[in-house]
Amino acid sequence: MRMVFIGPPGAGKGTQSERLIAQYQLAHLSTGDMLRAARDAQTPVGKQADQYMSTGKLVPDEIIVAIVRERLAAPDCGKGFLLDGFPRTIAQAEALDVMLQQQGIPLDVVLELRVPEEELFTRLAGRGRKDDTPDVIRQRLVAYREQTAPLLDYYGKQGLLKSIDGLGTVEAIYERIEKALAPVGKK
Ligand code: AMP
Repeated sequence: MRMVFIGPPGAGKGTQSERLIAQYQLAHLSTGDMLRAARDAQTPVGKQADQYMSTGKLVPDEIIVAIVRERLAAPDCGKGFLLDGFPRTIAQAEALDVMLQQQGIPLDVVLELRVPEEELFTRLAGRGRKDDTPDVIRQRLVAYREQTAPLLDYYGKQGLLKSIDGLGTVEAIYERIEKALAPVGKK
């Protein structure tokens, strides 16, 4: 199974991703995790990315697309993958389409985890990550609304989108995801 997981910051993608990769045996490609690792290791890319991450802005497409291209070429992605936090712009989605087309491995499904903005703000403010200060949270929500939300239409038109209600317990949400994935798995 090859899937993309879309949702605003604080929607619970990370938690649900952990379960999904275990159950469906997928490689987990979280661009946020990759960037944090690069930042902590003080690599050139990490230092560059930090300027954007620390203000809640999106890292430029060229940097992200290069990272994902390299990661997708790794052998473990052959068993299927879950892209968590990528793509986040239409340009990234188009670049991904080209990459997957060249390899002959189309996406099976795009999951959207839906959570209202008021709820996200409360969740993020309670999380305590470095980029979870109120100003940065606001900026990250703006980035989602303006740059990432258009992807819902993009993937909706391709017939790949499944939207999941992201309110409730971790278990309840996972059950909804499994229900949405059942017809995909049988393909
Ligand atoms: P996340 O952990 O997915 O919320 O990502 C944390 C931060 O990393 C974001 O606020 C962005 O600054 C950056 N980032 C992660 N993924 C991407 C992406 N696909 N495109 C641009 N920036 C990204």
